[in-house]
Amino acid sequence: MTATVLDGRRVANEVTARAAAEVAALDRTPGLATLLVGDDPASEIYVRNKRKRCVDIGMRDLHHRFDTDVTTDELAAVIRDLGADPGVTGILLQLPLPAHVDARALISLIPADKDVDGLTETSAGRLALGRPGLRPCTPLGVVALLDAYGTDLTGAEAVVVGRSDLVGKPMAQLLVARNATVTVCHSRTRDLAASCRRADVLVVAAGRPELIGANAVKPGATVVDVGIHRTPHGLRGDVEADAVRAVAGALTPVPGGVGPMTIAMLLSNTVAAATLMATGRA
Ligand code: NAP
Repeated sequence: MTATVLDGRRVANEVTARAAAEVAALDRTPGLATLLVGDDPASEIYVRNKRKRCVDIGMRDLHHRFDTDVTTDELAAVIRDLGADPGVTGILLQLPLPAHVDARALISLIPADKDVDGLTETSAGRLALGRPGLRPCTPLGVVALLDAYGTDLTGAEAVVVGRSDLVGKPMAQLLVARNATVTVCHSRTRDLAASCRRADVLVVAAGRPELIGANAVKPGATVVDVGIHRTPHGLRGDVEADAVRAVAGALTPVPGGVGPMTIAMLLSNTVAAATLMATGRA
């Protein structure tokens, strides 16, 4: 068996085109504020891509750049201003932040209805309680990709490897909301391969290059590889792609799988925030 490729670039282009059409239909142009601290090369690339896509679909790019030695108070003042500014639809604080900055305190200052990364406690609470709200982009993108390929989640055995606030936990909650039976694995899971082999849908977000091999995949399973690592052999995910491709029914490529979907969902979240603002439901 050779797994079907879940083409994140293609689906992300479709999501982006829909977001562009929605922007064109709005009376007021949405504005996405991005905050980047320091000169981490990966963060710079991520933010550059997000800003470019934002402009491509007709939104305003409101970028704020800070030196590494910026203080929590200085960042807090900017976030408060952006939160109060009606011209700002979404606020994205690029993580990770330098160790001396209190990331949690800063995230808590982002108004939930501008929280296009879905990271605030209010957004997390809304997700946990099944209330409308903005969801974290990466897990939202995984669900959108699975939907685009018609993956049936209702009653499916889903296994998520990783329990981070950014990916693993919201991923599990989104899958529960779609009526999957969800198992969450982490670094203390006793027999990771055995747990993963139960999965009809396996989502791997462990941040460990090629952690998941063919022995951890049920034949025919749908495997989503969230991980992304620069290695001497090129970009790799958390899944041993060559081996798993021979067993799985479907697999996301790295690159070109979850990464493009994450950016597309950021655009989609920003449009959703603008629509809520325009209809006064925010
Ligand atoms: P993270 O905060 O480091 O969390 C990793 C999770 O994996 C933790 O819950 C950890 O368990 C678990 N884990 C680590 N080693 C494990 C092992 N050997 N067996 C089982 N579980 C293990 O990472 P993250 O932010 O969730 O990101 C995960 C990966 O996704 C990274 O490679 C990141 O670069 C990538 N990512 C990609 C995108 C994208 O757009 N493509 C977006 C976000 C993240 P404990 O909780 O027990 O420590």
